[in-house]
Amino acid sequence: MAESTAVADSSCETLIVAIDGPSGVGKSTVAKALAQLLEVPFLDTGAMYRSVALAVMEGRIDPANREAVERLASGLDLQLAPRPGSDGLALEVLLDGETVEERIRTPEVGALTSIISVYPAVRQRLVELQREAGRTFGAVVEGRDIGTRVFPQTPHKFFLDADPRVRAERRQRQLAEHGTERELDEVLGKMVERDRRDSQREHSPLTHDASYQLIDTTRLTTDEVIERLRRAVAEVAVRDR
Ligand code: C5P
Repeated sequence: MAESTAVADSSCETLIVAIDGPSGVGKSTVAKALAQLLEVPFLDTGAMYRSVALAVMEGRIDPANREAVERLASGLDLQLAPRPGSDGLALEVLLDGETVEERIRTPEVGALTSIISVYPAVRQRLVELQREAGRTFGAVVEGRDIGTRVFPQTPHKFFLDADPRVRAERRQRQLAEHGTERELDEVLGKMVERDRRDSQREHSPLTHDASYQLIDTTRLTTDEVIERLRRAVAEVAVRDR
């Protein structure tokens, strides 16, 4: 039997792996590779919050106006569509039926995202979509509140962390890949501010508890992190058999 079906989350009968952590820690790369190994889709929940921020920006809505942002979020046409790619199956975010992947990756959208993601109705809408997709397909899900709020019952919870400067360098490289060149200090400053907002917000802050396995990726290669997670998921599968 494939590992992906052998280690189901008891709450929903599908395999859910939760990967949380601050920005630039490498969650997406690791989550994508792990999803491929486990034969489940990859879900980037940050892309969902970024899509709402994009709609706020394009709709010229004041991000400080909670009511207007929450109204917009509850009426948005947002879908998660399975999309096979060379690096495995992803649950792609579609806004009004269209891909937003390039438009949501700017530092401006990133900064706006941590402002609008504090609003409870925005979170509620996206959490429902995440749970529905997880129940339907199973997934390796990356975000900030996946193990604490979205799928608290999964036995597979990882919190990735790394030195802020190393994370800023990774983020800078990622931005460059998307065609945006930024100074390291600027990236670091924005990242620290975003992490502060994400960690201190009232609803679903970035945090972890004893049910998580903590991994400091500062001195690890991506392959080493992936292997640790793969092994940990398999060990739980054997333990719970
Ligand atoms: O992971 P990424 O950098 O794309 O996330 C962008 C922002 O989305 C985060 O800074 C955070 O404010 C928000 N987010 C969140 N909860 C999640 C995922 C992302 O609040 N599960």
